Amino acid sequence: MSRVFNFSAGPAAIPLEVLEEARASLSEWSGTGMSVMEMSHRSEAFRAVAEAAESDLRELMSIPDSYAVLFLQGGATQQFALVPMNLADADQSVDYLITGSWSTKAQKTAAVMRSVHIVADAGDLSYSDVPARASWECNPQAAYFHYTANETIGGLEVHEPPDVGAVPLVTDMSSTILSRPIDVSRFGLIYAGAQKNIGPAGLTVMIVHQDLLQEPPPQLPPILSYAAHAEAGSMLNTPPTFAWYMAGLVFAWLKRQGGLKAIGEVNERKAQKLYAAIDESDFYSNPVARLYRSWMNVPFTLARPELDGEFLVQAEEQGLTHLKGHRSVGGMRASIYNAVPEAAVDALLAFMAEFERRHG
Ligand SMILES: *Cc1c(COP(=O)(O)O)cnc(C)c1O
Repeated sequence: MSRVFNFSAGPAAIPLEVLEEARASLSEWSGTGMSVMEMSHRSEAFRAVAEAAESDLRELMSIPDSYAVLFLQGGATQQFALVPMNLADADQSVDYLITGSWSTKAQKTAAVMRSVHIVADAGDLSYSDVPARASWECNPQAAYFHYTANETIGGLEVHEPPDVGAVPLVTDMSSTILSRPIDVSRFGLIYAGAQKNIGPAGLTVMIVHQDLLQEPPPQLPPILSYAAHAEAGSMLNTPPTFAWYMAGLVFAWLKRQGGLKAIGEVNERKAQKLYAAIDESDFYSNPVARLYRSWMNVPFTLARPELDGEFLVQAEEQGLTHLKGHRSVGGMRASIYNAVPEAAVDALLAFMAEFERRHG
């Protein structure tokens, strides 16, 4: 069995070079006589791993010194709860832009604890477009403005950070972080579960401006407090050490690819190829407005949905896996993260053309 072209939405593909590097030192890492998994997170050896990962991420994303970088647990879903707990007082209102399932989940979680104001809801546009900026009703007093940079399920990506004035901008970048250069200074807080574009599941990366860590709401237990995690260098308790190490290998791999500008060009080309083929065909379609099409997750449907099963079986036979769309939307979805090579997209395109020729 050789490796397939894996289009999984998450946990997702990891660069083969990184997996092989990890395998080569799985039982004896760097002259320590043990696996990275087996050593104290407070040991000098692990500290070196942790610091290198942070410094490579800072370099890749040009993260200013005024931001803390945290390596946490709990996934993006836990941040749906911790963001309002940490960034808003009990009596403060928070703004949410709704563009699909993940922003809806984030908003519903925040609404359990805080007064949530929905700035605009793309539900009226079937989550395939975003209401015009001029129609948004932003609250200039909001504790923060939250949006989902890339809706992994619907395939809708907000490519530019929205202008929300002086209100701190908070974003869930789980499925688009590291896919291209971004201007970190536009944000108050960025969070991302690792299992899409960073590494294995179990790690959550956060980039947060120091200003937002100054006055943690009282009575927040330290384990739920961003300020306490930052103060402890993400080692308030045992961090997911192996996932952190793997993330570091991915960051180093990204640097070898030429950094985010270079990988961004590859990602744009992969996405454009796939959308162009979908648009040119009468058999495949994607509903998302061109301006908001995701570079990372490309959902598409077949003109004859009764062929979905056959499409998936035959794709699998060609080594093209995990193409089934999310259960909430059906159809297909190709997730084409950094670790999915352009050759995988080319193989998918060839298969799609052949399937259409036979069934279209
Ligand atoms: C996958 C995903 C999540 C959920 O991540 P968990 O790590 O399972 O909590 C949240 N938001 C976005 C945008 C995602 O892609």
